[in-house]
Amino acid sequence: MAGEFWQAVIAGRREVKLERVPVPEPADDEVLIKVAYCAVCTWEQRVYSGVFQTYPLAGGHEVSGVVQKAGAGVGHVRPGDKVIVSGLHRCGMCDNCRRGLSNLCVHAYSAPAPEGRVPGPGGFGEYIVRKGEDVFRLAGHVPLAEAALGEPVACVVRSVKKAGVGPGDRVLVIGGGMMGLLHVQLLRGRAAAVVLSEPDPDRRAIALEMGADGVVDPSEPHFAHRVKQLVAGAGPTVVFVAVSVLEAVHQALSVAAPGGRVMMFASQPRGSAITVDPNLFHHKEVTLTGTVSQVPEDFHDAAALISSGKLDLAPFLTSFYPLTDIKAALDEAVENQGKGAHFRVVVQAGSGE
Ligand SMILES: [Zn+2]
Ligand SMILES: [Zn+2]
Repeated sequence: MAGEFWQAVIAGRREVKLERVPVPEPADDEVLIKVAYCAVCTWEQRVYSGVFQTYPLAGGHEVSGVVQKAGAGVGHVRPGDKVIVSGLHRCGMCDNCRRGLSNLCVHAYSAPAPEGRVPGPGGFGEYIVRKGEDVFRLAGHVPLAEAALGEPVACVVRSVKKAGVGPGDRVLVIGGGMMGLLHVQLLRGRAAAVVLSEPDPDRRAIALEMGADGVVDPSEPHFAHRVKQLVAGAGPTVVFVAVSVLEAVHQALSVAAPGGRVMMFASQPRGSAITVDPNLFHHKEVTLTGTVSQVPEDFHDAAALISSGKLDLAPFLTSFYPLTDIKAALDEAVENQGKGAHFRVVVQAGSGE
């Protein structure tokens, strides 16, 4: 398919421009996708605001779209199929990839861009091309705007699987942003209790609407006591930290029940450190671990879950901008990060549906 299309490139701090680039021809094992929507994630916000200075970057990894053309060797999707795509580079050959940890591929962020192209996932554009294995088909009835959240859903799928939450577990999720609320949605009805800790009253109310069994304000003086009341027993057996606040890590470790697991879902500010009494791990047998990104199996599960219609994703789509207003989209995302009921800014690349 010849022709050119518009792609947004983050060129510097608070600087983004639209470039004309040639529409790529998919190889035999690739799929050409017409992008429908792309949500603005924290990573792109950090590059745009200058926290990470990896310029230029063709940003946009929370993508939904429609298959335009599939290579001869691709059998699982056809033109017209609605899809989500994994934008992470997985070399398949490094030690981490070969141990099933392609989310930790050593080349994830150092893969060279195709010749003449700006590096990055490229979802802020009208077309993307991906390996067939990175493309996941959705049911035809799924709204493509909601499907743009496929990547964050896949990350939460991994987090929940890795924590091994069972029916008797009592779960505390710390942080009521979209990621914390997605944890609530994936766990509701699957554990003995799911409680969310969040200082913002609007977000606490949303958590209850989305199926949390209880909510708690982390700033209240008897926080640990209140959490234990809400989950019953000796405290939460699984705690997810879904907020980039160091104090949340301390709260998670101190409130976890003996034998409990603490899952670091969110990253913490670079260079930050915590002091922990190692006897916590000895005397209480608490496990502290973490999760980052996702592996293809998690994307496959996310596509199934989104297709089932069981997730409430629409409340996370706060505002929409056409691709031509990408600067306004990034500005709004950066300026409203973490505010009340403001969740994802979504860029609409095509005419939508
Ligand atoms: Zn993301
Ligand atoms: Zn690798």
